[in-house]
Amino acid sequence: MEELIAEISLKRILHWNCRGFHFLPDELKEGYEVEEIYLKWNNLSSLPSWISKLQNLTNLYLPHNQLQSLPKELNELSKLTVLDVTNNSIEVLPFGLGHLSHLTQFLAARNTLSFIPNDFQNLKSLEILDISYNTFTRFPESILQCHSLQQLLLDNNKLTALPNNIVYLPYLKTLSVCGNNLLYLPLQPFLSNPFLSFENNPNLNYLSIWLGEQLSSNSSRNIDGNSWNLPRAQGCFCRIQIPNTYNGDIVVSDTNSKRERTLTLPPSLEYVLSGTGGEACVPTLLELALRKVYSLNCSHTIQRDGSGKKPTFMVKRTFPISLDHLSLPLQLKHHVGVGPVTLCYFCNGFIFTHGVVWVIPKDCYYESEEGPSAFCIFSTVIFCSVACSVSFAQWERKSTMPNKLETIKLQWHNAFKRRLCV
Ligand SMILES: [Zn+2]
Repeated sequence: MEELIAEISLKRILHWNCRGFHFLPDELKEGYEVEEIYLKWNNLSSLPSWISKLQNLTNLYLPHNQLQSLPKELNELSKLTVLDVTNNSIEVLPFGLGHLSHLTQFLAARNTLSFIPNDFQNLKSLEILDISYNTFTRFPESILQCHSLQQLLLDNNKLTALPNNIVYLPYLKTLSVCGNNLLYLPLQPFLSNPFLSFENNPNLNYLSIWLGEQLSSNSSRNIDGNSWNLPRAQGCFCRIQIPNTYNGDIVVSDTNSKRERTLTLPPSLEYVLSGTGGEACVPTLLELALRKVYSLNCSHTIQRDGSGKKPTFMVKRTFPISLDHLSLPLQLKHHVGVGPVTLCYFCNGFIFTHGVVWVIPKDCYYESEEGPSAFCIFSTVIFCSVACSVSFAQWERKSTMPNKLETIKLQWHNAFKRRLCV
């Protein structure tokens, strides 16, 4: 016991891994000078409320205990930068962790979390968030306000979708969403050109042309119009065998499961009309209003340099967008705040709820741990209007650039001349 008291009063770093602790020793109450505590592989089932007395604590490591909750007093540890509660049994986080203004790492993989309190949006220093192996069914939207995020790890949850505005996190370097049930990835490219891991999402069924081009940018392989090399991604889509003949339906057969499946597009694209068919595609008034309001208030462009073997890709957007001065109906304000789901492939115009979608096959190549891998996916090209899709098709036919990124097998467009309502 005296040893413990001496250790607490003399040391700034306490190495207490594997000590068999069921409770934090009361002597630690006097640990005003302690800065780091390592408590891995103990038997802690709770933390005391007096933990707030450790006012100089910067790093708290608690992996592999039996914690079921965290005390709300943690939010008084104003110098805390690293909180590691990996591999516990925490179901709910206390409200108030958003006060930890210096927190740069919150590591909470392998718990049973399904929700993140709203005040997480105040964690403006947070750079690494690991909530892999939890039970999230919905993406925790409050973390989109954590603008310093560089690594976001969401593997092995139960997510079916990522929010479209995840692409605006300005410093994101790594996004990992393996082992979920994602149906689609964002339609837009990311502002920060991150590395994206998405292995083992068995129902992921297409990659938008913007995102595909971004993930294949800086590729060392020469890219032609019908294939992508994906050095900025790890993961595969369901390996789809594209039949030689099409009957006009967007139904594809999956060679793994030998089942037929329908291509699933995000519900944000409420009306999509494929190709250059005769059906009129008239945007709704809501859609036109959104495009106008957004273009008046925001600067947002995608630039491509498709020349040479290493195409570069840039996305620019004013950030953050302030809507406080606008008196708009709530629905419009929400849409404008979230931003467009994608930009027109021909004119860069904004698309919120309504677009013309073409579906095309792409061969993809990427390096996996087992070596180079190849697969075929469907990609989507989205235009703001029928006029833009027609202009693009005409420009396509005239263009003679070799190996141009924009080359698309036009014959597929007719195969998909069909209205989709998703
Ligand atoms: Zn357009």
